[in-house]
Amino acid sequence: MPDKKDPIVCSAAPDQRRTVLVLALGGTIAMTPTSAQGGVTPTLTGSDLVTAVPGLQDFEVTAEDFRRLPGASLTTGDIVELTHRLEQADREGVHGVVVTQGTDTLEETSFLADLYYRGDMPVVFTGAMRSAFSAGADGPANLLAAAQTAASPQANGQGVLVVLGDQIHAARHVRKMHTTSPAAFHSPESGPLGHVIEGAVRLHHDPSRHIGLIALPVNPASRPPEVDIVTASMGSTGVLLHGLEKKLSGLVVAALGAGHVPDTWVPRLTALATEIPVVLASRIGTGPVLTSTYSFPGSEIDLLDRGLIAAGSLDPYKARLLLGAQLAAGAARPEIAEAFRRYA
Ligand code: ASP
Repeated sequence: MPDKKDPIVCSAAPDQRRTVLVLALGGTIAMTPTSAQGGVTPTLTGSDLVTAVPGLQDFEVTAEDFRRLPGASLTTGDIVELTHRLEQADREGVHGVVVTQGTDTLEETSFLADLYYRGDMPVVFTGAMRSAFSAGADGPANLLAAAQTAASPQANGQGVLVVLGDQIHAARHVRKMHTTSPAAFHSPESGPLGHVIEGAVRLHHDPSRHIGLIALPVNPASRPPEVDIVTASMGSTGVLLHGLEKKLSGLVVAALGAGHVPDTWVPRLTALATEIPVVLASRIGTGPVLTSTYSFPGSEIDLLDRGLIAAGSLDPYKARLLLGAQLAAGAARPEIAEAFRRYA
């Protein structure tokens, strides 16, 4: 395990005798032009992806087609089932797993897998911003760097990682921050955990995992609790908040700034918080919600006093997944609040 006091915690050449399992879920990395409208759709198999990457054959790589979907169509159930496959691969003695998928939901799927996955075997999510046959396709280089990371003993015990553009991110921090750029993934709160350089993993700091927070649902097909996000904006009257207690098991508010909503939202949020857990996150995407600075109506102090739960530095999308996973595990409000406190 890395020494927390040392800023550069490791650097080692890839060990090519290590076994890597590639689980392919679809996404742009597997997309080719097929549709009548001229767009791309996921067509390539996991072994198509592996065969196309020079250097990958040097590892002992096997590929499985787990799903063949755009990122937007993946579900919580898919990721629960994927996590069961990860735990099984760990038991089988696989050295590391690469998950290839659409970048649209990669920051969410990897975080959900990180909440559930308890093993030490490296698990690395990757994808591509450019489809397989486009000029400058980034998929092959991303897949190679992801496999080098998954094969690296230095990645053991680091939780679920995300590798794109030779940067290694913790799933807990990573966000997609551009719609088209190949450099779309960043960890704005913490910076990347490390880099892949000349095929070797260099980690700059420790991701501080929160292991074993949440029990993995036994049945991936069971219906997950309905949890959704409502975003605050200037002058909004909060019309979307009405009747939510009948539709949702939990709500995340993507608030303005450090955790603020228009004062017109306050009565409705107060009523909702007596019925279902309501989590206060920020729509900004970087930085935590505050807990003790502002006290105007609709401020963080006001809303937390009215029973909302602070999301810490989790963005609304990751907060929604943590809340949903807690509810699926049967957690009551104090346990939910405690889970969020750990991410503060
Ligand atoms: N733009 C997406 C991607 O990069 C499409 C998807 O998420 O499937 O993979």
